[in-house]
Amino acid sequence: MVASQSLRELISVLITDIPGAFPGIDCVTIACLDPEYELARLLEQGGQPQDFETSAFIPLTREALDALFPVPWTPRLGRGDERMRALLFPGLPRPAASMALAPLVLREKLIGCLNQASMDPLHFATDTATDLLEHLAAITALCVDNAVSHERLKLDGLTDPLTAVANRRFFERRMAEEVERWERHQEPLTCMLVDVDHFKHINDRYGHQIGDNALKRVAELLGQDLRGSDVLARYGGEEFVLLLPGTTEQHGFMIADRLRSRVAAGAFPGPERSPIHITVSIGLACLTAGPAPERAASGEWLFREADTALYAAKRTGRNRVVTRSETHA
Ligand code: GH3
Ligand code: MG
Ligand code: MG
Repeated sequence: MVASQSLRELISVLITDIPGAFPGIDCVTIACLDPEYELARLLEQGGQPQDFETSAFIPLTREALDALFPVPWTPRLGRGDERMRALLFPGLPRPAASMALAPLVLREKLIGCLNQASMDPLHFATDTATDLLEHLAAITALCVDNAVSHERLKLDGLTDPLTAVANRRFFERRMAEEVERWERHQEPLTCMLVDVDHFKHINDRYGHQIGDNALKRVAELLGQDLRGSDVLARYGGEEFVLLLPGTTEQHGFMIADRLRSRVAAGAFPGPERSPIHITVSIGLACLTAGPAPERAASGEWLFREADTALYAAKRTGRNRVVTRSETHA
């Protein structure tokens, strides 16, 4: 589920794996708040509208969803009523004998529900413990959010096709937003530029296919433990950029050095499966509290300072992290 990069993939996993893992479940559907049918359209783009993934997805209005789950949002188990059956399990040839509806909650908002039906009236009895169900719903909510933002990025032309991370255009948009936020809240904003060392040599020696694979792997390693508000983008060629809101230069240095050593320790697939080694250099700068540089300039300033630090990291040996403070010491 977590690896799903589209709503279709996620739904396909849910509707096949849940009945596969838990005997007695005859139908799984997912309903989401989708008043403008945006998600329904995303889903239809990946296949035929009558596909089973599409019929397992139910777009709901806010009223319909709120009517299903009064506050506090808790799972509903039992026989259900005719209206619920018709709304949430439209594809079942016979009415379900029992059902479990788990609310999907994301950032304290009700965004949908995960629905399971059984032909066994005792399968989802009202007194069944719901911990596992709630846990599954929590993960499902995150995965829906993740899959949908991934699809939106692709649609907007904001993703890099080779590495599947955001592209420079997306980064520039987010940089502008984050600088604006920084002006209001003055929380530190760290920017890191990551450049693969002697990458031309990798291409020349092993061919661009192996170079491409190495870039994909570098992107994966850089993105491994980002928080929701962090941005990782491919800025161009063999250069990546990270934007970490709420991160100081010192903390940023620790993160950058962890990324650097992760890449250096990683084995990249080379010719005939023999591993090759890759290193990166990282330059880092941070906007901290203080008098704001002119708005348009401050994003540019941050990027330029990180670039100067990156240049210093290259000059002083590569496979290194250099911070702006060091370049100004
Ligand atoms: P340095 O350590 O100074 O960064 O050296 P470098 O060789 O990495 O830097 P340089 O800028 O000279 O070369 C970058 C190379 O990256 C040249 C270019 O062919 C290669 N490159 C850029 N984009 C791609 C890509 O999408 N795929 C592959 N395979 N290579 C790429
Ligand atoms: Mg470069
Ligand atoms: Mg390079």
